[in-house]
Amino acid sequence: MQRFYFDHNATTPVSPAVLEVLVPALLEVYGNASSIHHDGQLAKQRLELARRQTAELLHCDPKEVVFLSGGTEADNLAILGIVRSHPAGRKHVITTAIEHPAVMNPCRELEREGVDVTYVRVGRDGVADPAEIRRSLRPETVLISVMHANNELGTIQPLEEISKIAREAGALLHADGVQAAGKIPVDVKALGADLYSISGHKLYAPKGVGALYVKAGTNLAPIQFGGKHERERRPGTENVPGAIALGAAAAASASTLAVESARLGALRDRLENGILAQVPSSGVNGERSRRTPNTANIFFDGLEGEALVISLDLKGFSVSSGSACSSGAVEPSHVLLAIGLPRERARASLRFSLGRSNTEEQVDALIDAVSESVAQLRKLSPTYTASV
Ligand code: PLP
Repeated sequence: MQRFYFDHNATTPVSPAVLEVLVPALLEVYGNASSIHHDGQLAKQRLELARRQTAELLHCDPKEVVFLSGGTEADNLAILGIVRSHPAGRKHVITTAIEHPAVMNPCRELEREGVDVTYVRVGRDGVADPAEIRRSLRPETVLISVMHANNELGTIQPLEEISKIAREAGALLHADGVQAAGKIPVDVKALGADLYSISGHKLYAPKGVGALYVKAGTNLAPIQFGGKHERERRPGTENVPGAIALGAAAAASASTLAVESARLGALRDRLENGILAQVPSSGVNGERSRRTPNTANIFFDGLEGEALVISLDLKGFSVSSGSACSSGAVEPSHVLLAIGLPRERARASLRFSLGRSNTEEQVDALIDAVSESVAQLRKLSPTYTASV
């Protein structure tokens, strides 16, 4: 059976352009970038080229790019590193209720250490309200952490406004840009971010590599202890082939971004409009205008999202429900609950995230498959009536 992949927000395949530099790098660029001999210096040169390419994607200075193991580590380093760099005493962090666990859980850890954290509520549109963030400020607020684009809804957060609020209050702004980089233009200076996280495997590089932009002069306490790598921001022998792959992926997405995002936006709209036209009692979750171009989150009243994921999987389509399996029970997405969806509707929602491999034909086949699967599952649903 042919398979069609519509889960690019979960991860992306390594692109041919990235593979073309990654395989020779694995074979030939094996030196330790800290070694002074030829092999070490070759690794160092290639690492610095990758840093420049990554900096170009983010519009920052290469010296402000720290390579590390992925989005989760970038978020942990940003949040824990900023808060712990402040002297002991009352400290307060503001974040939102729709962040990824890679942000939520370092915040929970800080709470265990005695730091106060405010999780700002987010409305049905899936966009954090800057006024709400301003209202949450306290004299001891040291950090505001707000994602650039939400992984489940694709909604883009008003970082420019939030960074102004942070600056006026003397707090720093960290943005989790894992779902934004490569999908929408990112200019960390124009956004006003002090720290910005990205992850290789969301932009066609392999898993296990990422980067954190840290504005020059920012005080950041280390969260790991070891050698003096990465300007003493992140110890450990650098994953040079991983960084080379991330640099190549960054360069490729910077050069194709405008064309590819227009193509994906048109495909995503075709998918949404096709589903809404064919499937009764369905609708789009979150704001439709300010979103990453590849993401659609749609509810199908009267059924379980998990069942629909499985039904579509059997037809050859990979999509996601956003639910999390905890202690054997399927929990609805915390993002959908946070924007105020009732539990049943949150459980009845699917995320479709498009990428480079998707075509109009695939989208049309997916619309038909969704329509057929939803009709089959609703026939079996004790709660669904056509008038819902
Ligand atoms: N932040 C967001 C918004 C994400 O979507 C993800 C991954 O899904 C992460 C952070 C974690 O990134 P990584 O998988 O590279 O650790």
